[in-house]
Amino acid sequence: MQDDRRVRERAHAIWEQEGRPEGREQQHWSQAEQEVGSEGQPPATPPGDTSASLSQAGLNPGDEAAPGTPGTGDGICPECQGTGRVAKGACGNCGGTGIIVQGIAGG
Ligand SMILES: [Zn+2]
Repeated sequence: MQDDRRVRERAHAIWEQEGRPEGREQQHWSQAEQEVGSEGQPPATPPGDTSASLSQAGLNPGDEAAPGTPGTGDGICPECQGTGRVAKGACGNCGGTGIIVQGIAGG
């Protein structure tokens, strides 16, 4: 359950902020419920946001990575922006993988 009094106070504050319009109580109330309900909770990482974990996968720039491995962070093909495809079809610059595996020091 939520703290009804705090929601009421918050809804009232929103109502005053908006210039005390009439007929908007319900929207203010639901907005206040969301704000009060989310207080005191730890910030949750949105599900599906894997960019943080991918960047800490342990691959250093220059490490050999399999073509097409997502999230390596290096060698994204500039021709197709990593999609592997261009308007004409498969991207010839990267062979359709979207990734250019760059050798170290040009062996
Ligand atoms: Zn490409």
